[in-house]
Amino acid sequence: MDLSVLNNLSYGMYIITTKRENKKVGCFINTAMQITSKNPMIAISLNKENYTNEILKETRKCAISVLGENASQELISKFGYFSSREVNKFEDINYQNIEELPVVLEDTCSYIIGEVIRVIDVETHDIFLIRVQQTAKVLEEPPMTYRYYHEILKGKAPKKAPTYQEEKVDRKANRYQCSVCGYIYDDSKEEINFEDLPDDWTCPMCGVGKDKFVKLK
Ligand code: FE
Repeated sequence: MDLSVLNNLSYGMYIITTKRENKKVGCFINTAMQITSKNPMIAISLNKENYTNEILKETRKCAISVLGENASQELISKFGYFSSREVNKFEDINYQNIEELPVVLEDTCSYIIGEVIRVIDVETHDIFLIRVQQTAKVLEEPPMTYRYYHEILKGKAPKKAPTYQEEKVDRKANRYQCSVCGYIYDDSKEEINFEDLPDDWTCPMCGVGKDKFVKLK
């Protein structure tokens, strides 16, 4: 089966957030779709291992920020490659408490607030059906599509994303993989070998140091 065919489906770039007591959580998602237009409903897919999934099942209320085309890699990485269990993702970013939800406004063209009305178990992920309660525009900017992120910005799907696929491996070249985000540094495609990179070099995707990279066999 040629799984690359699935890359022809279109996706966007979103940050979903919610709050339980004083704990703000959120993560990056690329799957969000409109299901109905009358009393509008949308659906999103979230990996069961995501902390946001666990919390959203309790709070049943969330905000979805639609990222604009100029969204920073830093913002995408923060929400895509780290867990709200360990990191306060809302530090140093522009967000506002709206309807008691921490709504990300940074690099956001619009946001949707809604209530979870059903959760559907789909093996590794859950689909959350969400009744839209409020929407607003933030920035006059086109939304970033997943294709734009992938092809123009060379972004990678986080391992827990529904669209994540293992990379094909060229076993001849020395390759090093970031253990946090999965980014691969391939000596054959770079001007400088990984070993020769300066000590303060950081992962272009998630910002961790060289020590978090492992050599692929
Ligand atoms: Fe990384």
